[in-house]
Amino acid sequence: MFFFRSREFPGKGSFPHGIHPPSNKFYSAGAEVEVVSAPKKVVLPLLQHIGSPCEPLVKPKQVVSCGEMIGEGQAFISASLHSPVTGKVKKLSVVTLPNGRHLPAIEIQTDGEQIDPDYLWKEITETDWHFSAVTDYSPDEIVKMIHASGIVGLGGAAFPTHVKVTPNAKRLIDTLLVNGCECEPYLTCDDRLMREAPHSIVTGSLLAGRALSAKEIFVCIEDNKPEAIDAIKKAAKNTVIKIAVVKTKYPQGSEKQLVKAVVDLDVPLGGLPADVGIAMSNVGTMAAVAMGVIKKMPLTHRVISVTGGGIVNPKNLFVPIGISMGEIIDYCGGLKKDAVRIIAGGPMMGFAFSDMNTPVTKGTSGVTVLTHEETLTGEETSCVRCGRCVDACPMKLVPTRLAMAARYNNPSLARRYHINACFECGSCTYVCPANIKLVQLIRTGKAQVAASMKKQ
Ligand code: SF4
Ligand code: SF4
Repeated sequence: MFFFRSREFPGKGSFPHGIHPPSNKFYSAGAEVEVVSAPKKVVLPLLQHIGSPCEPLVKPKQVVSCGEMIGEGQAFISASLHSPVTGKVKKLSVVTLPNGRHLPAIEIQTDGEQIDPDYLWKEITETDWHFSAVTDYSPDEIVKMIHASGIVGLGGAAFPTHVKVTPNAKRLIDTLLVNGCECEPYLTCDDRLMREAPHSIVTGSLLAGRALSAKEIFVCIEDNKPEAIDAIKKAAKNTVIKIAVVKTKYPQGSEKQLVKAVVDLDVPLGGLPADVGIAMSNVGTMAAVAMGVIKKMPLTHRVISVTGGGIVNPKNLFVPIGISMGEIIDYCGGLKKDAVRIIAGGPMMGFAFSDMNTPVTKGTSGVTVLTHEETLTGEETSCVRCGRCVDACPMKLVPTRLAMAARYNNPSLARRYHINACFECGSCTYVCPANIKLVQLIRTGKAQVAASMKKQ
């Protein structure tokens, strides 16, 4: 591919270790984003982000309109919540998300005239964004408007964006990396957004860069997305934004690996990109920033992929947050007979679920439906000490040791082996010839560590 011909960035375009699983993006990569209308009801958990839950601002039977704030993020690390529909609050309930968390939620019955979601999608995808408008806003105003719009990282981590773009005198940020890698197999929502809405991504990136007073902004894209690279390049022409085309490798889109690949810096173990002067945000988040700041439209909808061999018609969809997974699966023609596993997100880092009432949240990047053939793994056997898991781990951990510490419920040993540096990418499990569920064991080990810390 064309990637090393003219590198505009100091890194080598890749990182040590990692794996090359089949990308399987062919299911949905060619499908243009379709707009889904308001469903009969939406269910909106009060915690869809990292941090403190937001406080509900509405009561049962209260009428709300589309875009109205219904939950307020009062803590600094929190995010507000806005209704994606016009309707009536039915009740405050509790939902269980695919990661097993039980959360309070606001249920809204759709009623009355709705904002046309086609209009919203048109606003995001229009090409007539005036980049010069970015300087109409001071850095402080940009941060406040991002906060008021309830924007969180749409790549999956869901960290409140206003926190990320708030300048910190102790940790100065000089570079913003806008993450369009989408290294998770199957998922294509970021790819489609970059192809269909590059101007809003560029506008949002300029706004976030201004908020941070960043000297450099790179939009980072893996070299398996040539159309996205082309679209962002054209949209970013005559701006300060540079394009960093990086090698396709899993997990290229994780923050420490992308920092290494693009700016050749090592984020310390247990540290953050901010420790080396870097802020990172997803391309979808940047489009949301542009909508929130320039068009004063809070985050109520997002693009997701519905993909995999077990879905009848794989698609990319622009959906209201809070719609049920069941409804979007039905919209895509339902499940095939040989579908055996439904995952919120992609197969490497997502969580399997079975309750079709599970709502789409701000951090849901897709639904992957796998067939028996796609999930085929053999029976677990004993470790053969091949070391493949060690070679695969992008964090340079020793997954066998972490798994052993979890098996023996030994949290102090797990901590000594830096279990919390594992970000559960699944590379070790993927390569293990003994089919040992290393990530699951590591998750158990982390829970043991957390429990032991509480006791102290
Ligand atoms: S899941 Fe954790 S231990 Fe396994 S490869 Fe990824 S970072 Fe390393
Ligand atoms: S990859 Fe599996 S079999 Fe090989 S050393 Fe790691 S845990 Fe053992």
